[in-house]
Amino acid sequence: MVLGMDLPLDFATVLSLYKTSLIVGTVCFLYLRATSTGPDGSGFLAAAFFCHVIGSSLASLGLFRRISPEASQLPSLLLGILGLSLFWIGICELSTRRIERRQYLILMAPVIALVASDLTGLHRDQDMSMATLDGFMVVVLTGSVIRLLLDRAAEPLLARSLLAAVITFQAIALWFATLSHLGRSTFFFAPEKIYYASIVGNFGVALYAVLIVRERAEKALQRIAHVDALTGVSNRRHFFEVVPARLRAGDAVILLDVDHFKTINDRFGHATGDRVLTVIAGRMQAVLDDGQVLARFGGEEFAVFAPGLGDRATALAERLRSAICATAVPVDDEREVNATISIGVAVAAVEGALLELLLGHADRALYQAKDQGRDQVRLAA
Ligand code: GH3
Ligand code: MG
Ligand code: MG
Repeated sequence: MVLGMDLPLDFATVLSLYKTSLIVGTVCFLYLRATSTGPDGSGFLAAAFFCHVIGSSLASLGLFRRISPEASQLPSLLLGILGLSLFWIGICELSTRRIERRQYLILMAPVIALVASDLTGLHRDQDMSMATLDGFMVVVLTGSVIRLLLDRAAEPLLARSLLAAVITFQAIALWFATLSHLGRSTFFFAPEKIYYASIVGNFGVALYAVLIVRERAEKALQRIAHVDALTGVSNRRHFFEVVPARLRAGDAVILLDVDHFKTINDRFGHATGDRVLTVIAGRMQAVLDDGQVLARFGGEEFAVFAPGLGDRATALAERLRSAICATAVPVDDEREVNATISIGVAVAAVEGALLELLLGHADRALYQAKDQGRDQVRLAA
């Protein structure tokens, strides 16, 4: 009752709604195409939906005898199969963000359909023609769901699962449609109900494809905003977002600076300097526990926030220092860089201590460490 499914459905209305859903899909994908910043299948999906707009228009013109069967039957079958082939390529590109050459092989399907129709006259039998199209659609939709789910491990997006769900719904409805065209349906499945499922499917595909692209862009932005591009650890902005401006007694702030890094750059080149920074960041991250924050503050300077560490903060700083100086960073087959770091530690003595103040103390301790010969830890008084 809520959906009005128990009211009689007017077939002409359903057909025009079906076409509307295809046009909306085409427009959505053209919009994605126009605003696209990378491979997202939008071009193929727009073309796929457009093929279905033309194909279904020819089919209904033929059905209501506005055009000859010759102008309707074969072209609508071929456009349907071409549209589905493009849909498959589009979904693959949307899901994996690239196309493998073998995925284009599906474009053989319309050619095979043309030859088969020519030989057997399949397109002149309405039921056989519809069964072929719906059957192929079941195959393509099932393949699309599998593709989307396989890529879920590499890129888990909510919209991906929702798209897979809506395509599964459409595939099940079309499976019944295929059976009923072949006269084997054990369920009574009225054509308008199958169209209804396709309408929901078309709107759903357009919606969730757009949401996949949006969710992806959102994640990329989050990453750019919070992660240091070179080393992969947090950046300065993230540090100040997650570390409270007023600390609790015992919270520790540690500042770390690579010693004579300019010399490393001068001797080995900037690219090697970058590699050394990345290795150093990785080693420091490995020393830290969950809940402790490592950020690259800029250049060759890093900061760690260790909540509630208290007196043990100096020991942690020592572990960080030896994680760097203990093993040289290999540059190439023959050479390696012996990097060291100097560290300043400050621990909040009172409840509500200002982060900014504590960073100042840690910075002064760091400069003491540099003054007194580098490769050492100093605790702020
Ligand atoms: P100190 O022991 O006193 O810290 O000496 P230092 O040479 O490390 O200090 P200084 O601040 O003079 O030099 C830092 C150098 O780090 C200068 C700059 O060219 C280099 N640097 C800053 N950011 C990057 C980066 O992203 N990649 C590379 N390769 N070098 C960087
Ligand atoms: Mg330095
Ligand atoms: Mg520095």
